[in-house]
Amino acid sequence: MRVAMVYDFQDVRIEERPIPAISPQEVLVQMRACGICSSDVMDWYIRRKAPLVLGHEPAGVIVEVGAEVEGFRVGDRVFIHHHAPCMQCRDCRRGNHTLCETWRNSQLDPGGLAEFVRVPAINLQHDTLLLPPTLSFAEGTLVEPVGCVVKAMQRAGVQAGDIVLVIGLGFMGQLNVLLAKAYGAGLVLAADLVPYRLEKAIQMGADWTIDVSRESLEEVVAAYTEGVMADRVIVGPGTLPAMESGIRCVGKGGTVLFFTPTPPDSRLEIDPYTLYFREVTLTSSYSCGPPHTREALSWLEKGMIPADQLITHRFPLEETPQAVQRVAEGGEVLKALIVFDH
Ligand SMILES: [Zn+2]
Ligand SMILES: [Zn+2]
Repeated sequence: MRVAMVYDFQDVRIEERPIPAISPQEVLVQMRACGICSSDVMDWYIRRKAPLVLGHEPAGVIVEVGAEVEGFRVGDRVFIHHHAPCMQCRDCRRGNHTLCETWRNSQLDPGGLAEFVRVPAINLQHDTLLLPPTLSFAEGTLVEPVGCVVKAMQRAGVQAGDIVLVIGLGFMGQLNVLLAKAYGAGLVLAADLVPYRLEKAIQMGADWTIDVSRESLEEVVAAYTEGVMADRVIVGPGTLPAMESGIRCVGKGGTVLFFTPTPPDSRLEIDPYTLYFREVTLTSSYSCGPPHTREALSWLEKGMIPADQLITHRFPLEETPQAVQRVAEGGEVLKALIVFDH
């Protein structure tokens, strides 16, 4: 079978590998579609993990079932999560599934950008979801990224009437706008410097957009909120300037959520005096666990996620290098999918 291996930032090669053999507790999935994530084109992040088979937004069909597997059959259309928690450790019991050692160490074999994927027992039991017949495989690839945004909404504490500021309007930023509205936000402000992405954010439900290439984010947020500033700030880019401007835009009692990591050696200067007296919370949201993928699937099932408007590019597996390059270029691209023609 063919796989897409990444060796370095933007160095992706199509290679041949044997189809993985499954054990009695596992299944084999024939891949139908898999998204390219912005973390797949984050240079320092990829260099730390490479070499590996890319792809953690997969959807496909079960083609082989181990003798001891219950609850899944050949022909089932599924979303499979690349990491799955043990559901028993202290972190899992506290709802922190992505901090679980098992979650961190579990993985699909070899990864979503392969013609066939072996699903280990833990992934099958705890985070493999049947796709309803109304959902396409393309929509199935959105379960994982939507799950990450569900978790971010919950960790940021977005609630009815909130003023929410979303900084960075790539695919994940668009989903943050969409779900902030779905979670009841009263006013959603969306900031980026690409006109195409600003227009998309309006379609996703943003009340106002801010073009940070020609406006001061802080001043415009102050103007739209009559000086109140934002209750929840979702910082998309994993950069210090974006985080700093997010902190400048949060209001009293508000929360700033870092959606993307910085490289490990970054240091953010904070002003504890102001954070203290304004009772500001700084938090983060890393990936997602089983409760979030299930909620994501239900949003998709309800038709709340306009996949047609969010999936802007489709490539066959052999063009994965071009797909990765296109996502890395940014601009007029949101979600790029790899689609398999078996
Ligand atoms: Zn991702
Ligand atoms: Zn655990």
